[in-house]
Amino acid sequence: MTRAHYFESDSNDPPANRMAGGSIVLIGALSENIQDKILLNTEVLEIGEEADKLLIHTSEKNYAGEKVIVAIPPKLAANIGHSPEIPESVLQQMKQTHTWMSNAIKVGITYQNPFWREKELSGTIIGQVGPIIELYDHSNLDDQSYSLMGFVNEGLRDVSSYFKKGENT
Ligand SMILES: Cc1cc2nc3c(=O)[nH]c(=O)nc-3n(C[C@H](O)[C@H](O)[C@H](O)COP(=O)(O)OP(=O)(O)OC[C@H]3O[C@@H](n4cnc5c(N)ncnc54)[C@H](O)[C@@H]3O)c2cc1C
Repeated sequence: MTRAHYFESDSNDPPANRMAGGSIVLIGALSENIQDKILLNTEVLEIGEEADKLLIHTSEKNYAGEKVIVAIPPKLAANIGHSPEIPESVLQQMKQTHTWMSNAIKVGITYQNPFWREKELSGTIIGQVGPIIELYDHSNLDDQSYSLMGFVNEGLRDVSSYFKKGENT
């Protein structure tokens, strides 16, 4: 295990901002005017083509439209039936296309006090060994809830339980 060392943040980095209420507020604002058009718990099962329209079969209802925008990763879109069928070579390519961040394992740790700030540290941790490879100050804007959030070494994906209950190492 290498020893911890401290580094200065690059002053040319763009500033980070906190969102009051968390990122859910952004999603709420973007979706505010289209609430009635968002269908939850509705799985798209098949996209078909008929004459001059596209047919979307879902687990709830069927729809027809001129255009369909598929905004899920190719790997997931490969699970949707297509008529006419997608050529097999394209389908295989879709299934093998890595989904962005699918390797990532996120971790959030809450604290009663932001002990790192008391030492005038940012809370940013970058590691190449050990279970956690990145951490950032993830406290809320009101400074009422303190946490460090980041990513776990993806090598731990296959470990079912890293720390046993009650173990403090
Ligand atoms: C562990 C992890 C940590 C991440 N951390 C960050 C971060 O800190 N900051 C950041 O900016 N990004 C982060 N990301 C990336 C971020 O989550 C994605 O970029 C973002 O969610 C993509 O949004 P999206 O709407 O395109 O897809 P998604 O959020 O994946 O939404 C796609 C939706 O489509 C639904 N769906 C799939 N198939 C069908 C179907 N057949 N019919 C109907 N619905 C279907 C799924 O259920 C899902 O709800 C992280 C990703 C992971 C995995």
